[in-house]
This record gives sequence, structure tokens and C-alpha cells, in this order.
Amino acid sequence: MRKPIKTPRRVGKRSNLILQYIRQEKRSTIIKKLDTIFSKIIKKKYQGKCVKCGRAGQGVSHYYSRKHLGTRWEESNCIWVCWACHFHHLEHFKQPGEWYHSYMIKTLGEDGFETLKIKALGITKWSTSDLKILLMHYEREYHL
Ligand SMILES: [Zn+2]
Repeated sequence: MRKPIKTPRRVGKRSNLILQYIRQEKRSTIIKKLDTIFSKIIKKKYQGKCVKCGRAGQGVSHYYSRKHLGTRWEESNCIWVCWACHFHHLEHFKQPGEWYHSYMIKTLGEDGFETLKIKALGITKWSTSDLKILLMHYEREYHL
């Protein structure tokens, strides 16, 4: 049998309830919720229009793919696009194309892009609690 997790005595009743809430949800559920809310945030930022062609967009495009956890929920790593542009103009053999790279440099600047690159390619480990806190932050911040 698993030992119950002891919380420090200093932690008050309210904080205890928050900690319990944080621990309750499965990691995969939290990630799914984060992806959903993040997609809504990016859509809102671009008013639902594809950055490349201006038509109605359908989803988020990550410059550094979603497997890079350091930038998976980073606004500067994402744009809102239609699927046609996503597949035909932005990605070439699963790599961001030239247009996408130029767009990133134009919007972030060389330094900003370098910062993003370091964040994406570095090793990022999210604890389940950290993910939950990020989700709570987005939920509160954006009221979506
Ligand atoms: Zn498009």
C-alpha cells in the first residue's frame, strides 16, 4: 500500500485543498486541457485568421514542434493558420519552411528568435503540478 503524502504542518487548510486539487488530475488530461486553452489563446490573438493567407484559420502551428515542451505553450512559438498553408507553405518535410523562418525573425527579431530557440532546444521538465499551475494561470488570465 502506498504511504499517504505528508504535507508540511505550516501549509494551511486552503493551501492543502489547492494541493489536493493539483494532484487529482492525470498528467495527460492536464496536457490536453493546456493544448485546448492555448489553441483558443492563439486563435484570439490572430482573430481567427491565417497568418499566411488571411483566410479563416483552423489551428495552431508551432515553429518548434509540440515535442519541445519548453515552447509547447509559448505564444512566441506559435501562429494561427489554415491547414493548407500549414502543410504547403509553412512546413517542408516536417521542418519549418523559409517563409516561416523569415516571419519569426521579422516578428521576434534575431535576439528574440535566439531566446526562443534556446528555450525550445533545451531540456524542459514539467512536473504535473507545474503543468496544472500553468493551466490555472491561463484559465484565470484569459477567461476562456
Ligand atoms: Zn492560410
